[in-house]
Amino acid sequence: MPRLIFLGPPGAGKGTQAQNLASSWQIPHISTGEILREAMRSQSPLGIKAQEYVDRGELVPDSLVLDLIEDRLSQPDTQNGWILDGFPRNVSQASFLEQLLQKLAHNGVRVVNLEVPDEVLVARLLGRGRQDDTEEVIRRRLEVYREQTLPLIDFYSDRQLLMSVNGDQSLEKVSNDLHNSLES
Ligand code: AMP
Repeated sequence: MPRLIFLGPPGAGKGTQAQNLASSWQIPHISTGEILREAMRSQSPLGIKAQEYVDRGELVPDSLVLDLIEDRLSQPDTQNGWILDGFPRNVSQASFLEQLLQKLAHNGVRVVNLEVPDEVLVARLLGRGRQDDTEEVIRRRLEVYREQTLPLIDFYSDRQLLMSVNGDQSLEKVSNDLHNSLES
């Protein structure tokens, strides 16, 4: 049963690859960014609290996302597997997740890191046109990634869960490499 965490900087193509795999495996694609954007669209209490952080390219406080991920992974549809995209984003989220998965008896997690050079990321993000995709906010998101999310590469490689895939290729080539590394 596939349980997969997608790591990688903003603009690496995590969302697209995660979505494709989730639909081919018919398991939930859980994107904290999507959940937060939906909450902001509907102006729910979570959305109202998250907005100022998302708009600045900062991480939303753990106190908001940890409950959210615990609720989501406790839903019955996660029993056949899941793909996490955008969570965890820092070491404390990763430690929380590790304990949560133990509690839920979700075993066999693998982590995919999509590697893409910085200059390619900025160009891709600028072309995407999302509300938080202005150049200043993009640069801040990349900084936040380097400061807070990059340490997760060591966190997961220490646990021997990490695979890396070159994300600086066509969508089809990335999907292909991803399938190959998941099968090996
Ligand atoms: P994403 O769609 O994954 O790029 O996320 C968009 C924005 O949502 C990020 O820049 C953060 O502000 C927020 N966000 C998404 N996931 C998380 C998370 N796990 N922890 C904190 N903030 C998050």
